[in-house]
Amino acid sequence: MPTQEQLKKYAELAVRTGINLQPGQQLEIRAGIDNAPLVREVTKVAYEAGASNVYVQWSDDEMTKIRFHHAPDEAFDKFPDWLRERFDQLAAEKTAFLSIVSEDPDLLNGVDSSRIARSNKSAGLALANWRKYVMSDNVSWCVTAAPSESWAKKVFPGAENAVDLLWDAIFKATRIDLTDPVSAWVEHDKNLREKASFLTSKKYKKLHYSAPGTEMTIELPERHLWIGGGGPNTDGVDFIANLPTEEVFTLPKKDGVNGHVSSTKPLSYSGNLIDEFTLWFENGKIVKAEAKTGQKALDELISLDEGARYLGEVALVPHHSPISDSGILFYNTLFDENASCHLAIGRAYSTCLENGPKLSAEELAEQGANDSMTHVDFMIGSEKMNIDGELEDGTREAVMRDGNWAI
Ligand code: ZN
Ligand code: ZN
Repeated sequence: MPTQEQLKKYAELAVRTGINLQPGQQLEIRAGIDNAPLVREVTKVAYEAGASNVYVQWSDDEMTKIRFHHAPDEAFDKFPDWLRERFDQLAAEKTAFLSIVSEDPDLLNGVDSSRIARSNKSAGLALANWRKYVMSDNVSWCVTAAPSESWAKKVFPGAENAVDLLWDAIFKATRIDLTDPVSAWVEHDKNLREKASFLTSKKYKKLHYSAPGTEMTIELPERHLWIGGGGPNTDGVDFIANLPTEEVFTLPKKDGVNGHVSSTKPLSYSGNLIDEFTLWFENGKIVKAEAKTGQKALDELISLDEGARYLGEVALVPHHSPISDSGILFYNTLFDENASCHLAIGRAYSTCLENGPKLSAEELAEQGANDSMTHVDFMIGSEKMNIDGELEDGTREAVMRDGNWAI
């Protein structure tokens, strides 16, 4: 188990570097009960940083499982109003949101997939307003992780000390193993921001992807911005939304995706794994989707709403990144997406367009941003991936070769 000192370091990173909590601000933490010791540390650090109040939404994997196996069908069509109001009110009060993920990737294995889809749909509809706050950076938010026993056993099958091994891997990926993680993050954040502004200055019209199982072209909206590392919320306070993060990302033009793309890592989606899948696109729309594992879950995902058949994010991650070099498959998107180039099905971040957070839903759509109740990243990168950027005059240049930066 991690030492108290390690937990404190991790809590400091989440509150000060990730959320960058401001004096007088509230903090809402969502975490599993396995991680109470970490949540207590986070709470202490938050009050030290001047939090006016810290609230926690606890979850318990076992309770979630019991509900999905035993609750009546109609339970999944209803998202409680009081819970929606909690999210909406906290967001309106500019509360910061910290999510500490620990989910067992096989948690809902064997559950009727239509129950999961109904549950995702009712939550997706109820939290539309809150999602707008978060995805336009109207509030500061951060997603980080801590092990649960079942997740650790999935990552390190057969290991007696799986939980310790997963803590070590998480500490490495988040630079907690270094003597001064906060300074390391300042440097790393600067590098990611520089890469992002360089890509933005290129104003690529299109990206051309090729790899085994992948041949696709992605058009980028005229006013797209690449984002990497942290950035300011709409009140000008910097925060880093994912710990770890290794990606630079932007949005695709909703109707400008053509060709097919194959996954290179399993996708943990709502307690089920989707693996070895290929998506075919015509003018942005997913017209065919085939998975060797998890076909039903994949079908449910892309049928959630109209926007779930289109992409909302294009992210570049070099094959040689600390997480990727660790060789560990985390079965958790927060880590696996930061070891691989990826795309996301669903809603685009409005922050990826010039002045995006100020645009109306119609204006965002006009510029090519996809809207959906979902946003699910999936991994497509490998050491065999080449990506070209097409400049305004039609010439092409190498952006990535053999999975690594060529620029
Ligand atoms: Zn991403
Ligand atoms: Zn994403």
